[in-house]
Amino acid sequence: MIYLHVPFCKSFCTYCDFYSEIPEKGMFDLYTDQVCKEIRVRAKEMDNSLRTRYLGGGTPSLLPLANLTQILLTLEECGHGGPYEEFTLEANPEDIVEKGLPYLQSLKMLGVNRMSMGVQSFNDELLHWMNRRHNSEGALEAFRLVREAGFDNVSIDLIFGLSNLSDQVWEETINKAIELDPEHISCYQLTVEGDNVLAHRLESGEYEEASDQVCRRQYDILCAKMAAAGYNHYEISNFAKPGFEAVHNGGYWQRHPYVGLGPAAHSFSGRSRNWNDSVLDGYKNTKEALTVEDEKVETLMLALRTARGIDGEFLFANCQKEDINRLMKEGALVKVGRRYRIPEDHFFVSDQIIRELI
Ligand code: SF4
Repeated sequence: MIYLHVPFCKSFCTYCDFYSEIPEKGMFDLYTDQVCKEIRVRAKEMDNSLRTRYLGGGTPSLLPLANLTQILLTLEECGHGGPYEEFTLEANPEDIVEKGLPYLQSLKMLGVNRMSMGVQSFNDELLHWMNRRHNSEGALEAFRLVREAGFDNVSIDLIFGLSNLSDQVWEETINKAIELDPEHISCYQLTVEGDNVLAHRLESGEYEEASDQVCRRQYDILCAKMAAAGYNHYEISNFAKPGFEAVHNGGYWQRHPYVGLGPAAHSFSGRSRNWNDSVLDGYKNTKEALTVEDEKVETLMLALRTARGIDGEFLFANCQKEDINRLMKEGALVKVGRRYRIPEDHFFVSDQIIRELI
């Protein structure tokens, strides 16, 4: 599994706290040189047992094709070429519309077989408030182009839990997403973190966070609509048509080793986690070994976010029997075969349930 972080954005979204740069002359080439150098140094760390590639960001759709090709060729030279079971590229709708079909067809030729589009909302007022570059019409056109180019595995990202998102607008947004019939939909609850525009608005009183009740209600609306439309709620924030669950992200939740390339990318070796500095030029990699306790907590946290849940033997070996039994009595944990999971109607409070177990 390889993750490539592409840390460029043309503008910054109100709520975003990721490391990213506004591209200036020479930056794409500098980035590409650094990543190719990193690939050569870290080629031996790359595990090919799960052949997935994920280009995330930032905005990978900003990276010129020539640079992407150079990175993929370097991977190939180092023994990590295609074919890929899943190769996802995160794209901004505006880039897709601007670059058009030839761009999408080239991505296909490079092996990309899954597109993940950051739509976030189909309401123009909200998109403007989020400082997104596209509008609702642009998102629809981008989706149409992606389909025309022949992508048959498309994911859409949406955001809920904003105090200025009414239930009605949220329902309309979900309906529009369902009408497009993507294979996968990811829905994230807005959180105010770090030092960004939204955090400043919150501090100055210009923005007020949505209450827990509002977030819960919007999450319930989402779950009901997705189920009615035939999507499988396979992870807290993710819904897929049968057979289209994300393989790469599934690898994260099952603690499969992966190598993260590029500035600010994180990696996992099975026994340690490491991360690259958030700088474009000369970033270094820092490694942190995991303790037995870290491994236990991670395994529980990641597995219990999913509908697949956790192996019963692991659960009973690492958590208190009384806590498990109590949570089962409360309906916060259910047994499915040899595994235990948090049922969908308790997904919203999964953090609290997991905290009670650890
Ligand atoms: S949300 Fe995505 S597109 Fe927006 S600033 Fe953050 S990384 Fe860039």
